[in-house]
Amino acid sequence: MGNQNIDWGNLGFGYMKTDKRFVSEYKNGEWDNGALIDDDMITMSECACVLQYAQTIFEGLKAYTTEKGDTVVFRPDLNAERMANSAKRMEMPVYPEDKFVEAVKAVVKANKSFVPPYGSGATLYLRPYMFGINPVIGVKPASEYQFRVFSTPVGPYFKGGAKPITIRVSDFDRAAPHGTGHIKAGLNYAMSLYAIVSAHKEGYDENMYLDAGTRTKVEETGGANFLFITKDNKVVTPKSDSILPSITRRSLMYVAKEYLGLETEEREVSVSELSDFAECGLCGTAAVISPVGKIVDHGKEICFPSGMDDMGPVTKKLYETLTGIQMGRIDAPEGWIVKIDD
Ligand SMILES: *Cc1c(COP(=O)(O)O)cnc(C)c1O
Repeated sequence: MGNQNIDWGNLGFGYMKTDKRFVSEYKNGEWDNGALIDDDMITMSECACVLQYAQTIFEGLKAYTTEKGDTVVFRPDLNAERMANSAKRMEMPVYPEDKFVEAVKAVVKANKSFVPPYGSGATLYLRPYMFGINPVIGVKPASEYQFRVFSTPVGPYFKGGAKPITIRVSDFDRAAPHGTGHIKAGLNYAMSLYAIVSAHKEGYDENMYLDAGTRTKVEETGGANFLFITKDNKVVTPKSDSILPSITRRSLMYVAKEYLGLETEEREVSVSELSDFAECGLCGTAAVISPVGKIVDHGKEICFPSGMDDMGPVTKKLYETLTGIQMGRIDAPEGWIVKIDD
């Protein structure tokens, strides 16, 4: 299959079936060698653990073409490590981290005609995931699992420039203290659907979730971590045990300190200090950074000085430096860019 008919610039963020996907099965206490397969369908028992008790975890990362024309993935070792942590918290067997990276590379290589060209803004999104597949009716972990990786081309996140978004402080909680907020489990998303649909109905782009224990501290949105810029150009990100450790956010904090010489702080951020910040952004693999122009806290509007037309200047610098590193225009730290061989 070729890629001749894909209009990369106008692709949205949706699923498109590609040629090959990777599957490995866990049975009798061990993982098999795994293989690339053509079939995109999964057959399972009506009583599969994933269907009844949501025992499923996932990851997300992108393959893309650099300025030099290499096909690469960004820091896949961190996705492997995070998935291992998710598995442990969900009583699932860990898929070996080195084999995770190999599977990701194999899927990109097998679907190379779906990797968008440099400059298109599009990427090949990779979705590693794992779920309990054998029948389980009494509540307990499954004994058989599948680890899979599929890929789907996705369009540029910002078509025609990054417009700042408006978010609301949510009355719903995303993650309980000592719960599962720090792992990438499907269940965290299932319970956020009601909150995001109601936010959209009321005209907001996203929900800002607070700590469920005291509802005074900023956590994150449904799928992205926060970065704030203080009026004296310090980069601040909320610290909490129930935030998902975003690889983009960790990379941006490193870039802020080591490439831009900015002061960085990972600390508790209270809702009452939001109006003191100069800029705000959401970070995750999909957009790298989405600028936030306005936060609405129960009718009270907090408008950042960066406004509703453009990214703030420091956010923009961070965005340009990290995307420059990803695309090979700026030298990357050791190990960040992993090349897929031809
Ligand atoms: C995946 C995810 C993020 C972003 O993580 P990246 O590794 O940067 O893509 C942030 N928050 C939540 C809740 C997530 O699931």
